[in-house]
Amino acid sequence: MAEEVYDVIICGAGSGGGFLSGEVAPYGSVLILDAGPHLAGEANHGFGSPARRRAATQINLGNYHPDNPFFNRGNLFFSYPMYMIEANPINASIAREARVVGGGSFINVGAWIRPRSIDWPGFAEETGVEGWTKAEFEPHFQKAEQILHVHRDPRSVWNKASILYEQAAQSLGIPIYPVASNRFRCIYCGHRLNAGMPCKYDALMSTAITQVPKALSFGAEIVDNATVVRILIENNRAVGVTYTREREAITVRARKLVVLAAGAIGTPLIMRSSGLHLINDNVGRFLRAHPGVPLDVLLPGDDWNSDRGYQWNVSHYIHDENGEPIDVLAFASAAFPSNTPWVAASIGFFGKPYKDLMRRFRQRAGVFLFEKKPSRFGRVVGTVEGPEVFYPVVDKSGFLEPKMLNDFHISVRQANEIFRRMGAITTFPAADTPPAILNQLLTLFVTTTGAIHSQGTCRAGASPANSVCDTYGMVHGLDGLMCCDASVIPHHISSNPNSLIMALANRASEFVITQILGRAINPEFHVSLPQRPQSDEALAGGVAV
Ligand SMILES: Cc1cc2nc3c(=O)[nH]c(=O)nc-3n(C[C@H](O)[C@H](O)[C@H](O)COP(=O)(O)OP(=O)(O)OC[C@H]3O[C@@H](n4cnc5c(N)ncnc54)[C@H](O)[C@@H]3O)c2cc1C
Repeated sequence: MAEEVYDVIICGAGSGGGFLSGEVAPYGSVLILDAGPHLAGEANHGFGSPARRRAATQINLGNYHPDNPFFNRGNLFFSYPMYMIEANPINASIAREARVVGGGSFINVGAWIRPRSIDWPGFAEETGVEGWTKAEFEPHFQKAEQILHVHRDPRSVWNKASILYEQAAQSLGIPIYPVASNRFRCIYCGHRLNAGMPCKYDALMSTAITQVPKALSFGAEIVDNATVVRILIENNRAVGVTYTREREAITVRARKLVVLAAGAIGTPLIMRSSGLHLINDNVGRFLRAHPGVPLDVLLPGDDWNSDRGYQWNVSHYIHDENGEPIDVLAFASAAFPSNTPWVAASIGFFGKPYKDLMRRFRQRAGVFLFEKKPSRFGRVVGTVEGPEVFYPVVDKSGFLEPKMLNDFHISVRQANEIFRRMGAITTFPAADTPPAILNQLLTLFVTTTGAIHSQGTCRAGASPANSVCDTYGMVHGLDGLMCCDASVIPHHISSNPNSLIMALANRASEFVITQILGRAINPEFHVSLPQRPQSDEALAGGVAV
């Protein structure tokens, strides 16, 4: 293996890298390296494979203390130390990033939300990037949506809590959007509620069971449990990588392209381990993520079925007192029991223990509130071997930065109103919580649970002065190196990121095929677009504002 040469080496087979691999593999030799395990086996939608079913029942996110034998530590995740409190720089939280072939797409909730119309102009405004427009990305979303079977479920399979949540919100004049999802032959077992493990029945259309198998069927090779630690650079060109596997360091070479797709934390770490931050100071900067706060409720009766069915069924943007949407996206219905910081810190809000708790407390429901546009950036520093993430959303006052705090106050009030209409007996946090206490609670939730959806750390832009790579992810000032994952997203988006990552990977794949490999695109190797395009408003719950 040490001397082998490939046209393209893809480091990380998650949403971005996995998607790219399937589109590019028909045109050249491709090596896929991933730090996590490959739970192989033919996709069997509705049933699952033995390896994936085993993983789905045995693994959870694990605890912050990775070497503590008393906790059921998951092994499908990196737990990067993340420093969120400017007032207490010693106190570390965690950023949980997938570590498995399929990456985040393999263990996420499967909520498919496109960016809102208002997000698109922000990309060029922030970094001068060209081509990041709604119109240019439209066919790429459509293609990804076809491959991944993106659709909306009928209300007949929703849980009761979601149906009544929708009615209550609409009665308050809040526009509600059924959440689209990338699943196929889902049996509504409730498993997606507890993201953080693979779908037991292969319904979640991750790259692990779609694009990666496609790449392998075209001759791509995959090495799992292979942690890329360095990029090999010769004459200002990336010509390969070194990875470690079972304590052995192995170097492989790329004739045409090295693709970094290790996620918004993993990709800048590989670049920093290779010294590229010394050439471009923007490597690792401009980290953004989405801190989330759950609001839990106790409802009368015990037939709310929050543990069953696809979660989350409905989404909406929280509206302020003027009826204007703010930057908080709410997902219902399910939240309990992550609201207890102890529980959140111990099991995360995902995994089997979470589902078990949901099943024991059947009178509970809730909503997740995601802040989509915090006003603070973070930064990834350190190396692959010694990662550190700074994301100081709690400022020197010891509380969440004012914009986020304000947004969450409005959100708690509105979600309370909706649940009260549904007849909630108690809500937590309650709307009448004294502001000082609420500030404390919100700050505690965010800093114990961390933030997911990290992005922007090798962002695309017009020049190295404000970005790391160009519109297609090609790294400024160095030949043969591309980034293709959440790290390239140039600016805030008010959606969950998976759909955009798949779309940008498809767009990048066309660049690789035509510009790097010098081949013409052969429609036989790709899905054709649907006759009748589905708009983002129709599919993704995006608000046309
Ligand atoms: C629990 C959870 C639930 C989520 N739910 C949703 C949702 O419902 N909807 C949504 O839109 N988004 C969701 N997300 C976010 C979404 O899944 C991620 O943003 C997305 O998958 C990131 O894609 P990526 O390609 O950037 O990175 P990833 O998909 O994380 O892929 C990175 C890959 O690189 C590998 N890797 C890392 N470091 C190295 C290295 N040094 N060498 C080799 N390989 C390496 C990892 O093993 C991984 O396979 C969720 C995320 C989490 C964690």
